[in-house]
Amino acid sequence: MDQKELARKIKLIIMDVDGTLSDGRFYMLPDGTTLKSFDVKDGTGIIFAGLAGIKTAIITGKVSEAVQKRVVELQIDDYYPGVQDKTAPFFELIKKYGLKKEEVAYIGDDIGDAEVMGMVGFSAAVGDAHPLIKRISHYIAKRYGGRGAVRELIDFILDAQEKWPEIFTRLKSVANSDEIMRKINS
Ligand SMILES: [Mg+2]
Repeated sequence: MDQKELARKIKLIIMDVDGTLSDGRFYMLPDGTTLKSFDVKDGTGIIFAGLAGIKTAIITGKVSEAVQKRVVELQIDDYYPGVQDKTAPFFELIKKYGLKKEEVAYIGDDIGDAEVMGMVGFSAAVGDAHPLIKRISHYIAKRYGGRGAVRELIDFILDAQEKWPEIFTRLKSVANSDEIMRKINS
């Protein structure tokens, strides 16, 4: 089955954070808090996925207030911080939404993502993922983690599902469209 056929089935996109939604770098402050950067294009893609009726989720090994805020801002449906075994929330999610494994996409960058990537229907690696992760992926983004790789995957899925007309209609009609446009334009 080709990438497009796999992408057509996707109803839930699960994302890793460090090295995937961020570039993997962080600044450690003297008080122990950390700063990381996100890509606005990824955020817009996540909002578009939501408008297209595709669920989004984050599963991450770390606990971060910044990520928590990003989850709320982008209306990400499910957030699992501080997770060691990423397969557990994966099973929880497919049960919650009544999905088949083939209806789930996962994007990651490193070995900790490998097990769950082997379970989903459409696995994706960021452009600078570990070589082993690239080897097991259905889709390898040209863009790097924290530099639009997530947006590239979402665009690919939305293209495959021909969701753009629906997204543009919803952008015009939803009650909070001004709020969404503000986030997209920020
Ligand atoms: Mg990672």
